Order: sequence, then structure tokens, then C-alpha cells
Amino acid sequence: MVGLETFPANLESNLDVQTGAADGLAGTKRTQWPRGKYEGDDNNEYHIIRYCYVNQEAAEKLDCKLKEAIQLWHNAFGGRPGAASGHSLVMKEVPGWTRLAPDGTFVDEREYCFTAFNPGTRNGIWNSRVKNDVLAIEYDHSGRKSSTTGYTPENVLSINWRHQLRLGDSAGGVVAAHIIAHELGHVFGMLHEHQRKDRDNYVEYMPSNVNGFVAAMNRALTDIVPKPSPGDVVQKLRDDWEFANNYGFLGTQYIKGDKEPGNPIDDPSGFDYDSIMLYPSSFGSIPNNNACASDPRRCPLSKITKDKNGNVVKREHIRTKLTPSPKDAAFIKKYYPWPPIGAGQK
Ligand SMILES: [Zn+2]
Repeated sequence: MVGLETFPANLESNLDVQTGAADGLAGTKRTQWPRGKYEGDDNNEYHIIRYCYVNQEAAEKLDCKLKEAIQLWHNAFGGRPGAASGHSLVMKEVPGWTRLAPDGTFVDEREYCFTAFNPGTRNGIWNSRVKNDVLAIEYDHSGRKSSTTGYTPENVLSINWRHQLRLGDSAGGVVAAHIIAHELGHVFGMLHEHQRKDRDNYVEYMPSNVNGFVAAMNRALTDIVPKPSPGDVVQKLRDDWEFANNYGFLGTQYIKGDKEPGNPIDDPSGFDYDSIMLYPSSFGSIPNNNACASDPRRCPLSKITKDKNGNVVKREHIRTKLTPSPKDAAFIKKYYPWPPIGAGQK
């Protein structure tokens, strides 16, 4: 049986809720996905993300939308992997098997990551026919979307279920393809654009507009002895991943450098307002926050323009991105170029 609570600490540090470009691979033990042959297709090597669904429900709920999201990335790359598009990234489901039905016909069966999986407890029995490094895709009943970042090699951690993609429904129904495309950005190795260390020149982050801020603030003020100043708590909820996480604050998703602040996450291509990894202004906001809709200063994140003295002279809403941007595609091609580079290389 496996469960999240069994993960050692170094993997926990990769388990983000949603966890130009913000580079989640530079300076970490994570790498791009390994290279290998794409069986039955040709003799070329590719960087292959092998995936399985944790159970039948996940496949039924998510397979169509996942393929739409992969298509969004393919469009951004300029087509399938090869010399023309300049990338070598393939997502491939773990091969299934065929069984003979009682009526004498052959039936194709999917290979799931688990032979038994309980979505409520998230416990299950890993399918021994599936390698331990595949990406396990799960339908999340609570509506949560999250993923691990990049690939964790065997020599860093060799346990089952270390690469995860969890997708739940959105308020309007089935999770949208562009949201899955954002999560795939994490799977490929990207962090949030607004977690770049240079982000304060481009966007303004207002933790007090994030849903749950007041509750997290109160938890910290009640818990810490001697009682800290409210200003100190605000600063830590804004800048300190461990602290924010400790007090259950969703603002962890905005903290510069994510939980590894020392890592060089700012890709030299520069800040990209069009990145699918940049949250729209209203994301994470207090529910029914009409104030955010009319005034970007009331949103968790807004686009800013500064004058030559560094003063903010304009704030605008950041729109929802429906496709990966050209710089998103360029970043992926850096780690997954054609022809592919060696596994574990950067
Ligand atoms: Zn994310």
C-alpha cells in the first residue's frame, strides 16, 4: 500500500499544488524526462513521458481532455517531435493488453497504475507490470489540480508513484484543456512564471487578496509564542514557503523560487506575460471577489508598469491563457531538443 504520507521529505518537496519560463530543473536533482526508443514507431530516440491512469474512472474522466491538452502543446511546438519542430518530447500511455472474452472475441484492456486504488484514502496496490517512474494520472474528487515537477531519477528516489498528475473538475464542469496544459508545464519541468525572482518588476503580488489569508494570519498569530507583529506574519506568509505552508496558506504558489529559493529559476529568456504558467489575476482570489473583477489591486496578482524611478504607475488584469506561449515552447525545447540529449543531462 502506498500513500502520500509515505513519501520521504525530499519527494514531498516536489509535490506542489500546481507545482519565458520559471525553471524547475536548474539547480535541483530533478531532470528532464529520460530518452528512449518509442517502441513500434521508428528507430529514433525521444524524451518519453510514459503515463498511466490510476484507475478506470480517471481514464474515463480525463483521457479526452488530456489529449486536447497535449495537442495544445504540440501546436505551440509547431508539430510532432522531429527536426522540423525542433523538439523530442512524447507522451505515451503505458501499453495495454488483450484478453480473450468468453464469446471468443479479443478485448483491449488498459494497463492502470494500480491494481486497486481507493480515491478517498489515496491508497492502492501498485501494478507490478508498470514501471515505478511513470506519470500516474488521477481524477481528484475534491477538484484539486496538482502535479510533480519534472522527472526524479532513480538514483535520487526509486519509489513507486513519484510522478503524479491530479486533475479535478472545475466549477464549470470537466477540467479545461488549458488547465491541464498548465499542469503539463509542471510535469515537463516548469514552475510558475510569477515565482521568478525578477517578478516584482513585472507583476504585483498581494497575499492579502488570496483566499484564506485572514485565517492563515490568525492561525499564525494564535500559534506563535511570543506573539509576533502582524507585519512580520504578513511578510512571512508572502516570502517564506515553509511558514506559509505550515499555516495552510495557498499563497505558497506565489513564493519566489518556490520551496527552493536558492535555485536559479529565472530562465534567461526573461519574464513572459503570455506564459501559460502565469496565473490570471483572479486565480486564488477570495470567492465571489467582485472587487478583483473591477480593480486589479484587489486581486492576488496584477500586471504592473513602473516609471523610471521604479514607482508603479499602472496596474492591469492578467488574462487567462488558453495556450502555451512561444517562450513556453522555447523553454521546453531547451530541455527537450531535437535530437534528444542524454537522460539526466541539463
Ligand atoms: Zn501551477
